[in-house]
Amino acid sequence: FAVVGGRSTEERLIDFEDIGGQEVAKKELREALDFIKDVERIKSLGIRPIKGILLSGPPGTGKTLLAKAAAKYMDSVFVAASGSEFVEMYVGVGAQRVRQLFKQARTLAMRQGKTSAVIFIDEIEVLGGKRGQHHGHLEYDQTLNELLVQMDGLSGDDKVRLLVIGATNRLDILDPALLRPGRFDRQVKVDLPDKTGRLHILQLHTRNKPLADDVSLEEIARDTFGFSGAHLESVANEAAIIALREGAAQITHAHLRAAVDKVIMGEKLDRLPSP
Ligand code: ATP
Repeated sequence: FAVVGGRSTEERLIDFEDIGGQEVAKKELREALDFIKDVERIKSLGIRPIKGILLSGPPGTGKTLLAKAAAKYMDSVFVAASGSEFVEMYVGVGAQRVRQLFKQARTLAMRQGKTSAVIFIDEIEVLGGKRGQHHGHLEYDQTLNELLVQMDGLSGDDKVRLLVIGATNRLDILDPALLRPGRFDRQVKVDLPDKTGRLHILQLHTRNKPLADDVSLEEIARDTFGFSGAHLESVANEAAIIALREGAAQITHAHLRAAVDKVIMGEKLDRLPSP
C-alpha cells in the first residue's frame, strides 16, 4: 500500500460505537453521511453533493477516530495526511502533494473495488490558515489553492466519489475560502467530553483490562473534568503500568487515581515555559 507523508493508508478502521461520548458530533456526522449516501435522490433532485466536512475541537477529542468511523460507515477507503506534511521549503511541492493525495485515494479505492474514498486532512489550519498571514509565503497559498481546485473539481458523477474530512483545533484562523459552499460546508464541533462521555471513554479503554472490584469508573469520570479522550486513554494505560510495576494482577482504584495525577502532572510539565 502506498503511504502519504509517512502515514499508512492501511490503518484499521473503527465503528462509531468504539468512540466514547461525542453523541452530538456522532449524530451530526452520521446525518451528513446518510445524506451523502443517498446518491440517487441527491442526483435526481439536483442537489450539490457534500464534498467536505470539517471537524473542529480541542486536541485528542476523537476527530481522527470520527473520520475513520466515517470511512467505515461509508464503506470507503481511508487516506490520511496532516496539514504540516504539505508545507515545504520549495514552492510547488505542497500543491503537488495535494494532487498526489487525491490521486492516491482514487487509485486505492479502485484497487479495492470501492466506489468511494475518505481523504482525512488533520491540522488543516496549517494548510488553510488565512491567506497572506504567513508573511506572504507563496507556498502556503499555492497548497491551499490546489486543495480548493481539487475540491471544486469533485463531482457526484465521479467513478470514485471523494469526501474530504478536515480536522482543526484552530477554527479561528481558517481561511474563509475553505468554508465557502461546495467546500467544507458541513461543520461538526467535537468538544471535550462531559462526565457521561468521560465514563464511556474510560469504559472503552478499560474493557480489555482486569479491573479490581473497588474500581469506580464513575468517580474517576467525575474527577477528570477537562480531560480529553486522549488523556483518558493515557489514564487507563498508566494505571495498567502502575499495576504492573507493583506486581498486581488487577488494576485497583488507587492505581487509577495515581494515573490521573500522573496525567495532570504531565500536562503541567508540558505547559511550563521553555527556558
Ligand atoms: P488531534 O487534534 O490531536 O489530532 P484528535 O481529536 O484527532 O486529536 P484522536 O487522534 O482521534 O484525537 O484521539 C487520540 C486518541 O485518544 C485515540 O486514539 C483514542 O485512544 C483516544 N480518544 C480520543 N477521543 C476518544 C473518544 N471519544 N473515545 C475513545 N477514545 C478516544
